[in-house]
Amino acid sequence: MSQPADLVINARWIIPVEPADVTLEHHAVAIRNGTIIDLLPQDLARTRYQANRTVSLPDHVLIPGLINLHAHCPMALMRGIADDLPLMRWLHEAIWPAEGKHVSSTFVREGTLLATAEMLRGGITTCNEMYFHPAAAAEAFDLLGMRAVIGLTALEFPTPYASDADDYLRKGLAARDAWHGHPLIDFALAPHAPYTVSDSTLARIATLAAELDIPIHMHIHETAQEVTDSLAQYGKRPLARLAGLDLLGDNFIGVHAVHLDDADIELLQHHRCSVAHCPTSNMKLASGIAPVARLLASGIRTGLGTDGAASNNRLDLFQEIRHASLLAKVSTLDATAVPAHSALRLATLNGAQALGLGDRIGSIETGKAADLCAVALDSFETRPCFNPASHLVHVAGREHVSHVWVAGEIRVDKGNAVLQLNDTELLGFAALWQTKLSN
Ligand SMILES: [Zn+2]
Repeated sequence: MSQPADLVINARWIIPVEPADVTLEHHAVAIRNGTIIDLLPQDLARTRYQANRTVSLPDHVLIPGLINLHAHCPMALMRGIADDLPLMRWLHEAIWPAEGKHVSSTFVREGTLLATAEMLRGGITTCNEMYFHPAAAAEAFDLLGMRAVIGLTALEFPTPYASDADDYLRKGLAARDAWHGHPLIDFALAPHAPYTVSDSTLARIATLAAELDIPIHMHIHETAQEVTDSLAQYGKRPLARLAGLDLLGDNFIGVHAVHLDDADIELLQHHRCSVAHCPTSNMKLASGIAPVARLLASGIRTGLGTDGAASNNRLDLFQEIRHASLLAKVSTLDATAVPAHSALRLATLNGAQALGLGDRIGSIETGKAADLCAVALDSFETRPCFNPASHLVHVAGREHVSHVWVAGEIRVDKGNAVLQLNDTELLGFAALWQTKLSN
């Protein structure tokens, strides 16, 4: 007797990510109420399920939706505004002055809409976000139907959004209260960085994160200068200082983690922290190369992030997957470092687990949300194809993404975005803010 399904997707290849290192051929995914109810051979699926809709992907590889473990979505409006500068000059001379003048809830909403559309069309279904005006970001993710964990940013200095650390946290927690329980939207505490947040605020954030049982999302050890400055000011490296403030734990996501010594790696390992590796941003700002192969060998959960579009300048996880794999190889002079299946795991299940969402997303398994990405390998630049996992890392790009589903809802169909806003409306936001930012 056949069972009902909303959707059955038949794919040439399926890489479920869990179990590891597996590529299934001629399998199908059955979906009901936004949830994966089965993963099985296509022959069996035809007899077992009566589907309302069937999608055939005869030359495609189906993978879990990609998880962007670090982004600043509204910075899509500042894409390319200041390139070829190191981090501190980039922040002080370009980014912070522009933000001081222009950031508003409208800026955040419209920038997040632009970034969300870009990410969805590129196969990204979840974004771990850090910026101002979290309620405006939530509106944007909700409108376009993307899963997000929105950081409640804290800084000591005033911006147009908030006056001091208490004000940032108060406003952030109010946004969380307003959106609490949304099926696609969760929240994290997001102290910006060790050099912009005081000990007392960090201690308060550690307590709040434990009370609310939510992640902490923070830039750490991005540049060598950050470590030197911390030693001069606090007599400790940043991670040692954070450990002393009880900030480190399995809910802590340290972004960048480029400049790490043995003791830093031991701290991350001991506290079961996660790392969000942002290879393109680190290369572009010349911050350095995070020791990803060593982090993984130490059992430290590592995911991938794009960072903001002002320091990347693409919100493209296929690019991050490729850069992560290539940088790991060249920096260790070991071509076996971060092989294809591992690279895909960084961008999917590792990110999900870092966010505390490992039981809901990040792999194609029964009971998980149907957050899925299909990549077409039918064009001549993707042929021949001996190993689809390797192709996803070294050959295919976001331009080959054909279908995207979030919780079983179609967001990209045959390469076209299926969103509440059309391309003309999205381009309008970019044009409007380019004019404002140019004046
Ligand atoms: Zn960042």
